[in-house]
Amino acid sequence: MESFDELLVKAEAAHGHMCPGQILGVRMALLGLERLGIDDPRGADRKRLITYIEIDRCATDAIGMVTGCRLGKRSLKFRDWGKMAATFVDLESGGGIRIVALEDSRELAEKRYAHLEGKKAQQMAAYRELADDQLFREQRVRVAPNPSELPGYRGQRFLCPRCGEGVNFGLFEEVNGDKLCLTCARPQLRYWTAE
Ligand SMILES: [Zn+2]
Ligand SMILES: [Zn+2]
Repeated sequence: MESFDELLVKAEAAHGHMCPGQILGVRMALLGLERLGIDDPRGADRKRLITYIEIDRCATDAIGMVTGCRLGKRSLKFRDWGKMAATFVDLESGGGIRIVALEDSRELAEKRYAHLEGKKAQQMAAYRELADDQLFREQRVRVAPNPSELPGYRGQRFLCPRCGEGVNFGLFEEVNGDKLCLTCARPQLRYWTAE
């Protein structure tokens, strides 16, 4: 596993800029991996890990980079809850660690690093230097993903009889005996309206 600084350089390159979120995300991911005893998440251990992320912000990119978990590999699970929190799951044991950034850390950053100019500089210094327990709350959790959610799942593809669109991974609902895609079964899920 690369050092914190090496990972931060890679995170910055992948994300497009350096920001407090890159530092926080790299710290969160490294802590999660350490707690799970996973040393090589993008190599030998790549099939062992999935990560749930509860926010789509800068730190999300850093967490994806360090863990190697990505949406396109089905190993990054996004839950849109607006929380700076992530759960790292060891698929071999089903054990996970959920890590939440503490609210206090922002105040601590402002107090401790008042000599630095601007919130961004204060946060970057704080997220780099403060101890894990000053930045994060950790919780051991168990996660049992449905097999159909996991990388490598080969479910039968079907065509929704209502919209005619193909659907993978067994994501249908039965309505009056018809197997419908989720947005035909529950139109309120749609993020679009037809023009
Ligand atoms: Zn950023
Ligand atoms: Zn449909």
